[in-house]
This record gives sequence, structure tokens and C-alpha cells, in this order.
Amino acid sequence: MSDNTPVAAPAPAFAGGTILGYPRIGRNRELKKALESFWKGTTTEADLEATAKELRAFTRGQMAGLGLAKDDSSIPSNFSFYDHVLDASVTFGAIPTRFKGLRAADGSVDLAGYSTIARGEGAHAPLEMTKWFDSNYHYLVPEIGPETVFALSSTRWVDEFVEAKDAGYLTRPVITGPLTYLHLAKPSDDAPHDFAPIERLDDLVAVYVELLGAFKAAGAEWVQIDEPVLVADIDAPHADLLSQAEHVYAALAAVEARPQILLAAPMGGLEDALPVIAASGVEGVALDLVRGTLPTDVDLAGLTVVAGVVDGHNIWRTDLDKALVKARAVAELGGAVTVGTSTSLFHVPHTLKGEEHLGAELLSWLAFADEKVAEVVTLATALREGDDAVADSLAEARAALADRAAHPGTNRADVRDRLAAVTPEDRDRTSYAVRAAAQEERFHLPELATTTIGSFPQTPEIRKARAAWAKGDLTDADYEQAMKDEIASVVELQEDLGLDVLVHGEAERNDMVQYFAELLDGFSVTKNGWVQSYGSRCTRPSILWGDVARPQPMTVRWATYAQSLSTKPVKGMLTGPVTILAWSFVRDDQPLAVTADQVGLALRDEVTDLEAAGIGIIQVDEPALRELLPLRRRDQAAYLEWSVGSFRLSTAGAKDDTQVHTHLCYSEFGEIIDAIDGLDADVTSIEAARSRMEVLPAIRSHGYERQIGPGVWDIHSPRIPSTQEMTELLTLAKESISGRQLWVNPDCGLKTRGYRETVASLENLVAATKAVR
Ligand code: GLN
Ligand code: ZN
Repeated sequence: MSDNTPVAAPAPAFAGGTILGYPRIGRNRELKKALESFWKGTTTEADLEATAKELRAFTRGQMAGLGLAKDDSSIPSNFSFYDHVLDASVTFGAIPTRFKGLRAADGSVDLAGYSTIARGEGAHAPLEMTKWFDSNYHYLVPEIGPETVFALSSTRWVDEFVEAKDAGYLTRPVITGPLTYLHLAKPSDDAPHDFAPIERLDDLVAVYVELLGAFKAAGAEWVQIDEPVLVADIDAPHADLLSQAEHVYAALAAVEARPQILLAAPMGGLEDALPVIAASGVEGVALDLVRGTLPTDVDLAGLTVVAGVVDGHNIWRTDLDKALVKARAVAELGGAVTVGTSTSLFHVPHTLKGEEHLGAELLSWLAFADEKVAEVVTLATALREGDDAVADSLAEARAALADRAAHPGTNRADVRDRLAAVTPEDRDRTSYAVRAAAQEERFHLPELATTTIGSFPQTPEIRKARAAWAKGDLTDADYEQAMKDEIASVVELQEDLGLDVLVHGEAERNDMVQYFAELLDGFSVTKNGWVQSYGSRCTRPSILWGDVARPQPMTVRWATYAQSLSTKPVKGMLTGPVTILAWSFVRDDQPLAVTADQVGLALRDEVTDLEAAGIGIIQVDEPALRELLPLRRRDQAAYLEWSVGSFRLSTAGAKDDTQVHTHLCYSEFGEIIDAIDGLDADVTSIEAARSRMEVLPAIRSHGYERQIGPGVWDIHSPRIPSTQEMTELLTLAKESISGRQLWVNPDCGLKTRGYRETVASLENLVAATKAVR
């Protein structure tokens, strides 16, 4: 049991607790709806502004209502219309040349221009979008060159602070730090070959100095500067990053008229960057003590330390006792300690209210954003006043945790025994040469076999049928028939197009993870648990709370129906264990490796059942393999070992003449070629069109011997690639990969595409293949 006495140290700032950020999308996705109607033109810029203003007011009130102090900068101001990194670009004037025309005389852009930069329009290609560290949030990549003119170009951040202040709230503005901003940026189109955005650090810092002055003048007492880049191993040498940190924060600390600075380092431990920050002259540091380990050997005296002991990145109720032990241990380092979240809460849904269907038990194990704010307040009170002051809350949390640990569903003997009996051989198939011969004999596929990645357009009719079925307006039988009709038409289309290996089209899947989560034991699905993925796009991750098992086959009847309609092979289609984990909220009471293997075993049974039903080609998608790669290099090998191992566990039960495919996208594959090879799939399709087959030479020099399908059609836009274009890409691919090893396919699934461009593009794809064959 933790010690019960208040910490005897100078009072920290935010003594009542704080959070690093709050969800921005709105509990009923108000921002999403407002943005989308603005984009459609059914509402005006003023309407959008009004909704955003209401949302900010509601959010402030909510946080104060949950116990954060209104008057001491504990409440963050972290609103964004689309993305916080884009906001930084717009605020600093760092807008690529192609968008110059969108700017007003004072350098600002209105919301229409802002949307164009984010989403593209006509000739304006948008900023590139990429994943935010190892989360499923996407930010817009800044493009920086020698020509970028950094200048304070937006008053929005300051205006939002003032808006809150006028409403009686002294908030703490949250901004992305200069190191993170520049290290996440890419060189602009105009930049010379050897240019790195970080070369512009001093110019950018000058704008931060000005911004700090503006916040001070508006009355801000604190600002939060987020520097997650300091917890990651990046391409630049680590020593350079440390000296940049030292340089930047000394410069910002030296500004005379400024608010106090809280340097936040979400997503991991600061480690050797912590002494640098502590000595820089900033007044506060927020540590992620969920992902990062407790620092030692560093003097934090004189600093406010926000002990990030409430997980901002996952949805489990906090072990309050353990959290207090951590917070008190940090206090030993000399700082004035208060409690916070480990990251911004924008990674989790707003509230458990409305999720009562999950059942009281599961509900009591969870904490979404609002519940986490309450936990923070409880913990901060315990630190200040001793545990007795919050005895009831501590007891309640203990009881919920004990209940979770003892729940039969989190500890199933059948699942555990089976996993314990897994041997290394269970992850191995026969040699590829033997398999390839058996598969050749079975399928006789032509050189440059054509296929697609799995999904066909999710039409409004499909969505409507599913919604009606969910509401009870469509019977099971009618829904089943509607999906079968869809499958039949997709199979017929593929036959007409002359594709070699068909798919059933995934019409019956609401989502490639949730579909399986709804059919597996150990998962639950929320009603309204939306989190922002990018801009107005939200996802609703499933909750993986227990031991995973497969009560019955999940895909077999759809796959066999599709196969019954064609003499060509139809691929069975599964989502791999790593991707299922990456796009769910995963239990935190055991290593991810164990959970991944449980999913792997469930999928293994599905593979066996598909085989028994006559499905000869089975694809197991792992688009998220790269996403969970740890931010620190030293942790990456262990991750790749278990992630690849769980994939192999799911597929290695396949017979020699069953052809296993996998599909990867969203990645820079260069750094994980070993792992891709390690998956041991017979055929691997990857995204490659936009990068013009860039990864293939590396795959060749790696000595990759199995088959590969580099995408020849970038499916992320409605644009139809010409036969000529795809012929060129295939010719380029053949320079690295022999025709015998090469497949022809799009970059990814077609679910977000329409039929018009799907049919035309696939026609061209088949024509290009014929030309190259
Ligand atoms: N089979 C899935 C599809 O075609 C793969 C999706 C993905 O890679 N994200 O939609
Ligand atoms: Zn994909």
C-alpha cells in the first residue's frame, strides 16, 4: 500500500491535476458533421466557426465540471479544426508555395483555404498525411524548404485563449514544439537535394518567441509545448537531437516576456533528454510514466512535474494505487509533482455515458476521456491531501481491478492451455520451394497473375442494408441475401474483367477489424466510442478485453458462396493478428505478444476451416505491421519477433498447396523488409504506385525469393490510371523482380472507391498486364 502522507514540497502548478489535451471531435462528432457540411457547401464558414466555438465552450465547462481548476491553467486549450500540426504550419506561415494564392495579405488563410491545404482541391495536391508516432492518428506533413518564410500568420491560438479567458477560464494553450514540427516535416519540392527542414530551426524559433510574447500579452500564465519527438529514435543522430533541444529550450526560456513553459513529452520516456530539459530553464515538464519508465538520477528541483500516470492512449481504468506509487517516486527527484495524463486524451473516446450496453462489469473496468479526467483529479487530491481524502475512489478502483483480474473471460484455461502447447514448429511451413511447386501444380496461374486486395466498393446500398439489419428492419435472411447478391455481382464483374484470382468483395464487413471483433470471444464493441483518425475521419476501435477464442467460423460461408460461383480461385480474406491489435483498444494486463498469439490461434482455425471448405488461396492482411513498430530502436527487434511470430502462427497450419497471401500498406517498407520476408507468405501485395516501385530494388537486394504484388494503382483518389501508366509501372517493377515472382494488383482495397473508377481502372490494369506479358 502506498504511503499516506501528503508530499512535502513546494506546491506544483496545476495542483488539482491536469490533462495534456482533450478530444476535439465532440461527443456526438459535432465537429465532423460541421466540417463535412461546410465542405459540401450546405453551411457557411460562420456556421462552422459557431459550432467550433460551442464545442470549445462545452469542453471547458465539461473539464471544469469534472474537477479541473478553471483559474490556474490546468485546463488545456487544444482545439483544432482538422489537425494540430496543420495548425502549426498555418500559424507559422509555413505553407507550401503551391498554396500561396490561398493566403490573405496578412498571411492568414480562411477555413476554406485551410481545408484545401488539408484535403486538396483541383490542381492543389493536399499536404501528405502520415501516422502520428505509433498511434492511429494522422497528421499533415509540413513541407519546409529554404524558401519557407516563417512569420506569425494566424491569431487563432491566441484568440481561443482569449475566448476562454473572457468566459472565465484561464486555460493553457497547447502547441506542437519546434523540434517535433521540423523533424516531422519533409523537404519542400523546391528544396535542394541535401536539405533537411531542421536547418531552419533558428528561424522557426524566432516565431515561437513572438508567439510566446503574444500569449503573455493576452494574459496566459502557462503554455504547453509538446515534443514527442524527444521520446523517439529518429533518423537524425541522437546527439544532434539533444543539442537541438538544449539550444531551443534555452532560447525559449530566455525570452523575457513569456508565459511559463510546460514541456510535454507524450508517447514514451524522455530518458537522457530529461536532464537537458530540466536544466534548460523551462518551468515544467510533463512525463509519460505509462510508456516511459521512472526516471532516476536527475534533479528536477524547481520544476513543476506533471506525472503522467493516467494512460491517455488506452481506455482502461487506472490502477490508482500503482499510479500514486509512481507519482510519489517521481517526487523523490525534487520537483513539485502533480498528476496528469500520459498523452493528450484525443486518442480515446469522450465518455462511457451511453455505453451501458457493454454491461456494468466491463464498464467498471474502463475509463474514456471524461472518466480519466476524474481519475486525474482524484490522484492529484491524494497527492495533496493524502489517500484518506479519496479513500472511496481508491477502494472502488481496487475493486474494479480485482474484478477484472478474476473475471473468467480474462483467464480462460482452454485458451491458455492451447497457447502453452504451441511449439516453434507450429509457426513454420514446409520450405517455399516445395510449397511453390505444389501451388503451381494446383493453380497453374499465368505469369503476372492479376488480383485485387479484397474489398470492392462499399456502396450506399450495402451500407443501407447493414443499417436496416442492425435496426431490425431487415431480417437475417434478407440481409444474407442482399450480401450474397452483392458477392455474386462482384464475382461476375471480376470474371468479365478477366482477373486471374478473385475476391468476394467484403461487402458483409463494416470494417476489417470490427467484423472479426464482433465474432470473436474477448472483444466488445462500443456504440459511440469514436476517436479522430484524421480531420473529420473517425474510427471506432473495438475493445479487446479478454482471452480471445473463435466460437465458430467467421468467413467460411461467404468465401464458399463466392467460390461456388466461379472456377477461378477466390481468395479467403482475413485480418491478421497485429492489425487486429493495432486498430483495437487492447488489454494492458498481459504482453501484447500473448494477446497477438491468441488472435493468431483463432485465425489459424479459420484458415483450417477455409481450406476444408475448398478455399485454396487465403490472404491474411497486415497493413498495420509497421504502425506498432516501437519508437525506440532497441525495442524494435523484440516487437518484430512477436508480431511476425503471431502472423506465422495464424498461417503456418496451411497445407503446402494452399497459397498464403498477405497485404501491407501505409508503410515505409524499407526498414521492415526483414520482417516482411519473415512473414513467409507465398505472395505479398504492397502499396507501391505513388512511390513508383521505390521499394523493389531493396527487396531484390534482400534476396527475396517469394512472390510479390507491388500496387500499380493508387486507390486513394478517384483518378483512373491509364493502361500506359500501369504498363510503365510494371515494366519498372520487372527491372527488380522477375516476371515469375510478380503479381499485378492495386495498392489496397477498393471499399472507398466508386464502381465507375473501379471498373475503368481494373480494365486498364488487365490491359497493362497483357501488354507486359
Ligand atoms: N482486404 C482489405 C481490403 O481490401 C485490406 C485493407 C487494408 O489494407 N487497409 O479492404
Ligand atoms: Zn491496404
